Amino acid sequence: MEKLFTLEEQQRKFLLAQQSFKDGDYHIAEPLFRLVIESAFQHEDYDMYVSAMVWLERILINTSRMSEVYPYIILVNPLIEKYGYEEIKERHELSCIIFNAYNRIGQPQEAYKKLLQEVSQKQYTDLTCAVANNLMYHFVDTGEYQEGLRLYYQMRPLYEKNNSISRMARYMFWIYSFELLYLNKDYEECQRILIWLKERDIIVDSFYFMYPICQALLEMRMGSIDQALIYFDDGLAQTVDLMSIKFELNLVIDVLKENERYKDVIKYQSILIDLLNEHYDFENSSERTTIIQNFSRQFYESQLYVDQLTKVQNRNFYEDLLKKQQQVKNYTLFVLDIDRFKLINGTYGHAVGDEAIKFVADRLKSWNPKHDISIVRYGGDEFIGLIPYGYEVVEEDIKELHKKLMQTPFKVADIETFSLSVSIGVAYTAGRYQLIDQLFRVADAAIYEAKVNRGQVVVKSIE
Ligand code: GH3
Ligand code: MG
Repeated sequence: MEKLFTLEEQQRKFLLAQQSFKDGDYHIAEPLFRLVIESAFQHEDYDMYVSAMVWLERILINTSRMSEVYPYIILVNPLIEKYGYEEIKERHELSCIIFNAYNRIGQPQEAYKKLLQEVSQKQYTDLTCAVANNLMYHFVDTGEYQEGLRLYYQMRPLYEKNNSISRMARYMFWIYSFELLYLNKDYEECQRILIWLKERDIIVDSFYFMYPICQALLEMRMGSIDQALIYFDDGLAQTVDLMSIKFELNLVIDVLKENERYKDVIKYQSILIDLLNEHYDFENSSERTTIIQNFSRQFYESQLYVDQLTKVQNRNFYEDLLKKQQQVKNYTLFVLDIDRFKLINGTYGHAVGDEAIKFVADRLKSWNPKHDISIVRYGGDEFIGLIPYGYEVVEEDIKELHKKLMQTPFKVADIETFSLSVSIGVAYTAGRYQLIDQLFRVADAAIYEAKVNRGQVVVKSIE
């Protein structure tokens, strides 16, 4: 039978495939390993056959094709004892640990540690780096960054002095180090790593996307979220394998939640959900279930328009309303602002200031003369009431509200009680259509007058 390669050619292809793997050029390495597997089988060269299979296993793992890994593991297992030479056994062992960890089988941390000890004793430098990198990733993934950082300091000298370590291993080492330091909030060191990666030309082309993604994470903490999202989208666009940035995607979503950027949360959560749906076709993936449970589009959409301190509608809600350029008639709008609020902040501190804002918001929420009134926190100590009724319908209610707010005692941490003073500017239109924005301007002019003596209600008709 015609052979695919001579033994000599086969050896050359194998070495080339190995080198491409170490450079991160998986698209070159993968077809070569596949050819070598076939050739070695023809030659009944089982040492080579097993070796090439084990390397291929790692490519499948590193490109997140976990469901394709299993058949190789099954094929290699019975052969490895007999034919696995040099570090191939340990390499296969590493693949098995990663595969098990992914499927939440066994104790990956213990297994990695044991293997790390073995391969470093045998001085398999490349493999030591591979195992350590995977263990570092495990610590990133589980959030055990203190342990991860210990490993980082332990491995760092090896990476600094040894230039023969593969490009891919070096690159991933610095990326995982970045992430561990990031979890530890050591952003300055993170910055140094990014500079270092560029300066030393360590970035692997086919995994370039990790770089803008790290830039994005750092920018989120040290710069602007908008710029961070530009970096992140750049990274996303270049990623062939979204699964490999699942962790970073989660980090980004967390920061967006912290900053109440719910529109962006929805966008990135959707990417994550699609990714998980595509990837975990078996149903009982606990990770997928948890994320889907945590994610409710409705919830985040409702958060978009809610002020977090007072739970009344927020400025977004109001701005979106204005964008609709809605014309209204028989409509009343008021602006309400706490008097001398800065004095409360200054005397009792911001926390009490917040309580005062909540106190007013709660009164406004429970003020319910008509069911379709909206209360908006426009900012700081200023609220807007949107009332789809003519002034004559709510005149008494507004006056009553004002009186109540001025008279109801506000308690400061159970030690002191005083009354808040508020000013209100009202604008209304009866029979003529007006823009809501126009009403707001008139109400704003009214409150300006009310503020002259404070504690007043000033009413203006727009017509
Ligand atoms: P005036 O009687 O003219 O309204 O005087 P004022 O002191 O109330 O002044 P103004 O309404 O302009 O001040 C609003 C202040 O509210 C400014 C800002 O420091 C403070 N502030 C804004 N947002 C918050 C917040 O969420 N919590 C607290 N505690 N203070 C806030
Ligand atoms: Mg005020």
